[in-house]
Amino acid sequence: MELLAAQNIVDTGCFSLVKGRMAKGCEYCIKGQKLVLFITGLCGLKCFYCPVSDKKINKDVIYANEWKIEKPEDLLEEARLTEAKGVGITGGDPLVVVDRVCEYLRLLKKEFGKKFHAHLYTTFRLVNEERLKKLYEAGLDEIRFHANLYDKTLWPQIELARKYDWDVGIEIPCIPGMKKEILELVDFMKEKVKFLNLNELEWSERNDCEYLSRGFMLKNQLSYAVKGSAELALEILKEAKNAGLTLYFCTAKLKDNVQLKNRIKRRAKNIKKSFDQVTDEGTIIRGAIYLPELTPGLNYRQKLEQADKKKYLPILEELRQKLIAQLKISEDLIFVDEVKLRLITDRRLLKKHACFLKKQNLIPAVVEEYPTRDALEMEVSFV
Ligand code: SF4
Repeated sequence: MELLAAQNIVDTGCFSLVKGRMAKGCEYCIKGQKLVLFITGLCGLKCFYCPVSDKKINKDVIYANEWKIEKPEDLLEEARLTEAKGVGITGGDPLVVVDRVCEYLRLLKKEFGKKFHAHLYTTFRLVNEERLKKLYEAGLDEIRFHANLYDKTLWPQIELARKYDWDVGIEIPCIPGMKKEILELVDFMKEKVKFLNLNELEWSERNDCEYLSRGFMLKNQLSYAVKGSAELALEILKEAKNAGLTLYFCTAKLKDNVQLKNRIKRRAKNIKKSFDQVTDEGTIIRGAIYLPELTPGLNYRQKLEQADKKKYLPILEELRQKLIAQLKISEDLIFVDEVKLRLITDRRLLKKHACFLKKQNLIPAVVEEYPTRDALEMEVSFV
C-alpha cells in the first residue's frame, strides 16, 4: 500500500485502483447507481475479447440491465426499480443507432432531470461531427472511446470529441502482452482526454479458442478474469507518464462484488413481496408454483421465450383465483409472475399445501433467485 501511495495510486476499497480523479460515470457505477442500457448488439468490429454474449452480439436488441425492453417506458421502470442516478449506454456500438440513443437519452433526462448522469461507450469507427453533435445536444455528459490497440489509425479521431463541453475518456481491456501499445496510447491521449480506464480482461466464452491460442489462462478457478491482466494494469499505473490524465483500473471482481450487488439489493427492496425473504446478498427466496410444461429444467429459458403469454396469463390468473378460494388465502399472498409465467407465493404456505398442489398437477418449489427482471435462479428446490 505504501508503495502505491508513493506513486499517487489509490486503492478505492472497491477492487479498483485510481491515479488521479475517477470519472464521474465510474463513481455512480461503483455504487450500482447506473442503469446499463444496452442499446443495440450491432457493431462493425470483431474484437477477439468482445464480452457481449451470443444472445446479443450483432442482434438489434435493447436491454435495460437484464430486461429485454420492448418499449421506452420499460426503461423508465427499470431505472425507478433500481433507483438509478444515471445511465451507461453500451452495445454493440451505440453509434450504429445514434438516433435511438438520443431518443432514450432525452426520455431519461426528461423523466429524471438534467442531473441524471449519462455516459456512453463507443468506438472511433463511426465517429463524425454530425453524430457527436446529436449526442451532445441530447444531453450526453461523458463519452468513452474504445481505442484499438492493434491499429492506431483512428486514434486522432479523438479531436472531434474534444470540441464539446463534456468529459472525454478512453476505456480498454488491459490485454496481457500489450504493455508497449497501452503506454503509447496513454502518451497519445494524455493531453486530449480526462481519463483512461483499464478493465481487467475477462474470459470470453464466445472466443475460447482465440484466448487459448494466445496463451491466456484464467486467473483462478473462481474467476473469469485473465491471468496477468491485473499485474499489467498495475505496471501501467506505475510507469505511465500521465500528468493531467486519470488512470483507473477496474477489476472483474468489482463488477460482481460491488456494482451488481449494490444494484440488486436496491431492486430487491423495491420488488419484493411481503412474503419474500431477501438475503444479505440481495437475492430473494420465495415459493413458486409452476405449470408442468414451464418448470425449470432443460431449455427452460428457451421455453419461456417461446411461450405464448396471451395464452398463459389468463390460465394463471384463473388458477390463482381458484387457489385463493380453495386454500382460503388472502389475495396478497399469491401473484401471477408475468415474466416467468408461474405463480409466486409465501414459501411456508407452499410447503404446507405442497401435496394438494401436486394433486392438481402443479409443481411447487422453493426458489432462490436474483431480483433482476429475468429472475435468474440460483437454486430451485422442488417440494
Ligand atoms: S467494439 Fe465492443 S461490442 Fe464491438 S466487437 Fe469490439 S468489444 Fe464487441
